[in-house]
Amino acid sequence: LHCVRERDQRLVKLKKAAVLKRHGMLACEICGFVFARTYGKRGADFIECHHILPLSALGAVLKTKLDDLVLLCANCHRMIHVARPWLTIAELRRVIDAARSDA
Ligand SMILES: [Zn+2]
Ligand SMILES: [Zn+2]
Repeated sequence: LHCVRERDQRLVKLKKAAVLKRHGMLACEICGFVFARTYGKRGADFIECHHILPLSALGAVLKTKLDDLVLLCANCHRMIHVARPWLTIAELRRVIDAARSDA
């Protein structure tokens, strides 16, 4: 279900358009990665969409709002889902900060 919602392409499109309009680019909300900077035209429109509400909070009729979606690079998105429990955005930020300060 989580993935089905994340694959609602209409909403994802709206989210990306809203962020593009406001920030002029699509950046990962955790690490700041911008696909266009690394992959040029090929990555210009690419970023993944993650739904931040836990499944238990989602009723069948509850509509996903744009604010419930965060834009993430493929790495951060994968790291959120790599093991249960899934991390929140803030938790993954802390994981990155901790790893960087260890390095
Ligand atoms: Zn990222
Ligand atoms: Zn996700």
